[in-house]
Amino acid sequence: MHAAIVWFRRDLRLSDNPALNRAVESGLPILPVYVVDELDSNGAARWWLHHSLASLRESLQSLGGGLKILEGDPVTRLAELAKAVDAEVIYCAHRYEAEASGQLQCLRKSLPESVRLNAAHSALLTEPGSVVTGSGSVSKVFTPFYKAATRQAFAEPETQTPVQFHDAAKDDSTTVLDRLLPTLDWADGFSVDWTPGETAARDRLNAAVRKSPDYGEMRDRPDLEGTSRLSPHMHFGEISVRETWHRLSSVRDAEPLTRQLFWRDFSYHLLVENPAMGWQPLRSEFENFPWVDDDVLLNAWKTGQTGYPVVDAGMRQLWQTGWMHNRVRMIVASFLVKHLLVPWQRGADWFLDTLLDADLANNSAGWQWVAGCGTDATPYFRIFNPITQGKKFDVSGDYVRKFVPELASVPTKFIHDPWNASADMLASSSIRLGEDYPYPIVDHQEARQRALDAYQLSRDLLKSGA
Ligand code: FAD
Repeated sequence: MHAAIVWFRRDLRLSDNPALNRAVESGLPILPVYVVDELDSNGAARWWLHHSLASLRESLQSLGGGLKILEGDPVTRLAELAKAVDAEVIYCAHRYEAEASGQLQCLRKSLPESVRLNAAHSALLTEPGSVVTGSGSVSKVFTPFYKAATRQAFAEPETQTPVQFHDAAKDDSTTVLDRLLPTLDWADGFSVDWTPGETAARDRLNAAVRKSPDYGEMRDRPDLEGTSRLSPHMHFGEISVRETWHRLSSVRDAEPLTRQLFWRDFSYHLLVENPAMGWQPLRSEFENFPWVDDDVLLNAWKTGQTGYPVVDAGMRQLWQTGWMHNRVRMIVASFLVKHLLVPWQRGADWFLDTLLDADLANNSAGWQWVAGCGTDATPYFRIFNPITQGKKFDVSGDYVRKFVPELASVPTKFIHDPWNASADMLASSSIRLGEDYPYPIVDHQEARQRALDAYQLSRDLLKSGA
């Protein structure tokens, strides 16, 4: 019996899934497969992948089929599978990270001519390479990219048709799936906030559609549930981005939220043009930047022990829940690269390891933006003050109180700078600075000046050609 293999990648859903739909249209019995490989090695995101695959498999089983889960090099595994089931065609979605798109090219070469490979562009609203300036490259600035991208037409989501499965689809081994779970009890907190899978993704989207008119006002408040929290669902493709865009665009005042979807596209377009963006600064003046690669400072930051409450709240939110609010991502990233002068790549690696939405394109673009070395970056000399940022965006201090419970009784006036409170006030708040909670590991003004000096030095070095 011939077969059409559907190779699920970052499109772990049934609805509006072009790869699956093209396979159904082929009229061949379908064999859905996922191959766990070394690109799936990020810590927290493996927890998500485990549950997302389990959920996808359940959905496929409810249609009478299943999901074959293999492990190893996808090129080898898929070529073997294609031979074993006499496949005529493999359908999948494109991925845009260099290694992942390389897999597709290798697979094409390793399949016999009789097996076709059909890849759909379904992960983004706009296909990389389709939004370019007059010179043929991606705009270095977001706004012109956004204007050009929104001039494109976005096809309506596709409706699902009945699936006829290949016999080999009914495979319910759980060994590979179970190996994805972290061995530490680290992931316990994840399931409090998150439910991976297509159904939960749709619930999040429904909630985001309902709340979208308030998004513009609430999006910078880490103490409120003001953003969609769709990011891990979007990363794994549990909901299609065009369905998300169409649903949001059908309600009034959703532009501030739909705009964010294009930041995602922008990051991917940049990644395709700059495949080394995950570790190489996009601006050359940062290649000689005098970073201080200090493990003690890095560890204080990772564990939420810097003495700056909003930074520590963010880092602990990340560890406990696998997610961090965007405003706080900017604050903690800025603190690491500017106050501590630790290379942005160290922070980016920690995020990739601990975020459930860890995404090479968005993460690299976010870090490079904050560090000042991205194309559309915030200027390096603009240095976030973690105290005023805290006071402005966590006005009542509730965000800090939730994730830094040692400070829960500190009055709001001093929640973002407890070292400025009187000894009596700290005593009545049951907090001993330096014991229960650290003093700031660097002084803000001094750190700011040091960062500006470092920046000047790197510019001087560039000018002198050193
Ligand atoms: P919403 O504000 O509700 O936005 C809706 C969707 O738009 C998001 O789910 C996401 O897919 C997309 N989006 C929103 N903001 C951005 C952005 N700035 N860049 C790209 N896409 C965006 N996002 C990731 O998905 N993965 C990452 O690894 C990641 N790392 C980041 C690192 C840093 C240093 C910074 C500053 C930002 C990073 N972001 C990353 C972008 C952003 O912080 C998250 O996408 C957002 O916080 C997710 O929350 P949400 O789903 O509630 O977003």
